[in-house]
Amino acid sequence: MTYSVDLFQQAQLVMPGGVNSPVRSFNAVGGTPIFFERGEGAYLFDHQGKCYIDYLGSWGPIILGHAHPSVTHALQQAIGKGLSFGTCHEKEQKLARRLCTLLPSMQKVRLVNSGTEAVMSALRLARGFTGRDKIVKFNGGYHGHADSLLVQAGSGGLTFGRPSSLGVPASFTEHTLVADYNDLSSLEACCESYGKDIAAIIVEPVAGNMGCIPPQSGFLVGLRHLCDQLNCLLIFDEVITGFRVGLHGAQGLYNVKPDLTILGKVIGGGMPLAAFGGRSDVMDLLAPLGDVYQAGTLSGNPIAVTAGLSTLNVLSEPSFYETLQQATQQLADGISLLTKHFKIPTHVNWVTGMLTVFFTTQGAVHNQQEAVQCDADTFKRFFHALLAQQIYWPPSAFETAMVSMAHSQQIIETSLQGFERVFSNWERTV
Ligand SMILES: *Cc1c(COP(=O)(O)O)cnc(C)c1O
Repeated sequence: MTYSVDLFQQAQLVMPGGVNSPVRSFNAVGGTPIFFERGEGAYLFDHQGKCYIDYLGSWGPIILGHAHPSVTHALQQAIGKGLSFGTCHEKEQKLARRLCTLLPSMQKVRLVNSGTEAVMSALRLARGFTGRDKIVKFNGGYHGHADSLLVQAGSGGLTFGRPSSLGVPASFTEHTLVADYNDLSSLEACCESYGKDIAAIIVEPVAGNMGCIPPQSGFLVGLRHLCDQLNCLLIFDEVITGFRVGLHGAQGLYNVKPDLTILGKVIGGGMPLAAFGGRSDVMDLLAPLGDVYQAGTLSGNPIAVTAGLSTLNVLSEPSFYETLQQATQQLADGISLLTKHFKIPTHVNWVTGMLTVFFTTQGAVHNQQEAVQCDADTFKRFFHALLAQQIYWPPSAFETAMVSMAHSQQIIETSLQGFERVFSNWERTV
């Protein structure tokens, strides 16, 4: 642990906050981040070889567990052939075809390097295609750190986004409208006033960045109808849900067809790879065919594409998602039983591969407002108590724990024993 403290102090001298992405700093839970050296299957190892059961999964990509042998092998082969060509190569179309086959709403796809980049490009494309400026997003939805999406709702039901970050001019967010997740009525006013100006509605079909919050029945279909009425595009941000909640994404699970889809995280299997795709009449507006400009030096990078393809190979195997669902359910049910037994007010939301424990007396959590009412202090103690049991949970109350194929029944059983020790000592912990 002192090793991590020392390293973190040194990191802060050369990196803002000691990190390359803010939530890694443990700001939300306090304490010093652990420095990890190695991952294998469901485990992360720190420098002393101390082993943690990993429920962070690198925030989503690691659906096969760490260092999966067939992905590692494919990468070793690929690396020897050069890291980047900046030219066409065959594997990129293999991956593109694969993505379009598995997600039939996508007729064409473009590969990029991060979810942020994919979202930014998809919004530009939606605006170019519709000739309209406004975008609707939902409170608590996260779509990366593009300027126009760094907004917080003002007061009142329907709101224009105000910048939530310094450095974002108000004029950059004036075209971003904000509504409430799982609440179609919160869209009515905005559609009445601005319907003809709305280029797209962007949504995480299962919210994953205010904790895991599944869509209520009728919500996604309602959005589809609304977009048809307004003649605007429906964009599913499936950066987390794509190839996590099922082989055909959340769109397959809930049977709603978006016009554009954003992918990331799992499709790179841990390498920097993301994508956006959809209807060909829309996608063909991208340069070089059309006038919406979009480009990238490392886009379709052969190493990243290799990691993606070999990851998709494994998760396409029969009953992959049945097993993943059973594992997620085993963990969710186990935690619910324990908290009930020890009378700790919680609510567990889960969808295949994703899970959040909300500390709340209110029961189910459906939107951001209900999520932020949960007890953040209790979560901090919960996080550190789990850490002491060598269980690495995402370091924020508003994140989603990730279950992977490597989380066997046995490992989940062991995890639940750790949870039991945490909850049985709760009075002393809290
Ligand atoms: C992680 C995430 C992004 C951003 O992806 P990056 O690769 O971190 O830029 C966008 N949308 C959702 C839903 C995400 O979870």
